Amino acid sequence: MKVAVIGTGYVGLVTGVVLSDLGNNVICVDNNPEKVKLLQQGKPPIFEAGLEEMLTRVLRHQSLQISDSIRWATQNSEIIFITVGTPPGPDGAPDLSAVIAVAEEIGKSIQHHVIVVNKSTVPVGSGDIVEKTIARQGVSSDLFDVVSNPEFLREGSAIQDTLNPDRIVIGARRRGAADKLLELYSTLESEVILTDLNSAELIKYGSNSFLAMKISFINALSRLCEECGANIGDVSRGMGLDKRIGRQFLHAGLGWGGSCFPKDVLGLIKISETFGYDFNLLKEVVTVNDTQTTHFLSRIEKRLGGFAGKRVALMGLAFKPDTDDIRDAKSLVLIDRLVAGGAIVVAYDPMAADHVSRLFPQVEYVSDVYSLANGADALIVVTEWNEFRQLDLARIKESMAQPILFDGRRLYSRSVAEQAGFEYFAVGG
Ligand code: NAD
Repeated sequence: MKVAVIGTGYVGLVTGVVLSDLGNNVICVDNNPEKVKLLQQGKPPIFEAGLEEMLTRVLRHQSLQISDSIRWATQNSEIIFITVGTPPGPDGAPDLSAVIAVAEEIGKSIQHHVIVVNKSTVPVGSGDIVEKTIARQGVSSDLFDVVSNPEFLREGSAIQDTLNPDRIVIGARRRGAADKLLELYSTLESEVILTDLNSAELIKYGSNSFLAMKISFINALSRLCEECGANIGDVSRGMGLDKRIGRQFLHAGLGWGGSCFPKDVLGLIKISETFGYDFNLLKEVVTVNDTQTTHFLSRIEKRLGGFAGKRVALMGLAFKPDTDDIRDAKSLVLIDRLVAGGAIVVAYDPMAADHVSRLFPQVEYVSDVYSLANGADALIVVTEWNEFRQLDLARIKESMAQPILFDGRRLYSRSVAEQAGFEYFAVGG
């Protein structure tokens, strides 16, 4: 099928590359000239496992084309995905300006029937907004359909998630439009939910907010564990083995970050307000998350007797492992507070150091984890990269001025860390 994808970020690029690898003719469009240039050379502007190889392959096979023209893409496709960003606006409500700008441009360019698929995460009612925006450009309603098809991929496993989704959600007014999308996805094995536009849009916010709530719940319990001497690792395992609860998203840590949870939880609070419902439960989910890192920082500050002049080493900077994304990463909060308190901060991350160095040039970035802690007064685990799991902790301990390990992700067991000679502090005791 002939497909266009507008916006080549984490979602758009992966969607475009995977769909072209599955045999469709895809045009990926972006309005960022640097991204377009890089992509035309086969270089993904983001890190995602397997993406570069797949991009090179589909460019070589000419099943993927990269362009800066929405007009050209619209005129040469049957299905157009909108995958631009929807960051929070000043009041926390999702900013739809990029989605609307793209819909306008599509509307101005339509010459034959197209299905416009909103894959960006957008508030309830956005399908109507996109529909009206296209109609305002003078396009007759029989020349286009608007469909909601929220995306659930996870950065770090985006290609695998796109190929093996838990479910495909399609919200449409006309069955014919939904069927066309089903045909596009027919090679993927997945449960399908066919529903209306509003429900499809809400499924995305409900899913992300529920996952964020699970993490905030276990983090709130971790605070209680610290006070009462219980072990959050055991508590979480004991709870998670109950099939009704499940073990995923039940790992205590520094809290959730990234480009989705923070904005989608805030987004759902705002959407609810619009419809007259005060979603207090979610407000508390945000509060627990916001205070989780600052609470851990207070424990570190107390143990070190203040940050001034202390050399503090950070293991990991990305908001989670296997990605270079630092949007709303907890590392940024930590660095901000440590630097403000007068600490000398040194950091290592396998993928994300370049991005953070643009925001915090005063931090010292090292290129291997074993030199990270040289002369440090404290080592903080910020991101649970796999390469940190099997380190020679005794060797790292030897290189430090004070062997104190603050484990923000509960990556190590207390016994292993203490055996290596560390004084060990973890989220949740
Ligand atoms: P992103 O910021 O990485 O990418 C957005 C892209 O759109 C950028 O390359 C930008 O240059 C481009 N763009 C913006 N305006 C444009 C325009 N007018 N014309 C053409 N291109 C334009 O965003 P993302 O992380 O890929 O997220 C996209 C959407 O998908 C968001 O709504 C997000 O909430 C949702 N989502 C993201 C994830 C994720 O893990 N990142 C997962 C599921 C859903």
